[in-house]
Amino acid sequence: MSQARPISRRALLFGRSDGESPVSPGRARPATSPSTLRPPWALRGTAFANACTGCVACVDACPERVLVLRKGKAVFEPERGECTFCHACVDACAPGALRDDGVQPPWTYRASVDEACLGAQGVVCASCREICPQSAIRIPPAGRGAAHIDSDGCNGCGACVSVCPATAIHLHASVETAA
Ligand code: SF4
Ligand code: SF4
Repeated sequence: MSQARPISRRALLFGRSDGESPVSPGRARPATSPSTLRPPWALRGTAFANACTGCVACVDACPERVLVLRKGKAVFEPERGECTFCHACVDACAPGALRDDGVQPPWTYRASVDEACLGAQGVVCASCREICPQSAIRIPPAGRGAAHIDSDGCNGCGACVSVCPATAIHLHASVETAA
């Protein structure tokens, strides 16, 4: 018997779907390159790639639909939306590739803005600031410069990535390496 899979109201509204293709026509844009960002609380170093069996339990459990399988391993795609750190993927990961020891943060990803930011072209835009749950983004007034992200406040949730109309925001890892 097929079982209804959890999906958040936000993911539903944004038209996030499952599978390998990045989502929602007319909403989220395709990633410029396939994501190599790991799911939250992934094991560090080569341990994650060794432990992840590609069972897709985390992909199925994620109510935000931000996890997909790439080359047999789970990855986080911020182009699909934000991670709310709900823990559902960790709870679903039987092989233990995602593991929360209660001490380590879910990841060290942080967002950064490149020169494509509309503010850098003199255009007023505050889409990223408005969606950031951490209030980590500052926008210079009247289109007088690019958005600025406070890396101490940013938790790498990725909410700002998918809303940027200029595809100017990217997440990068400061500790993790590609799986
Ligand atoms: S913590 Fe929750 S929202 Fe984040 S990737 Fe895991 S299941 Fe999805
Ligand atoms: S990735 Fe960082 S800056 Fe972007 S919305 Fe999340 S907390 Fe805010």
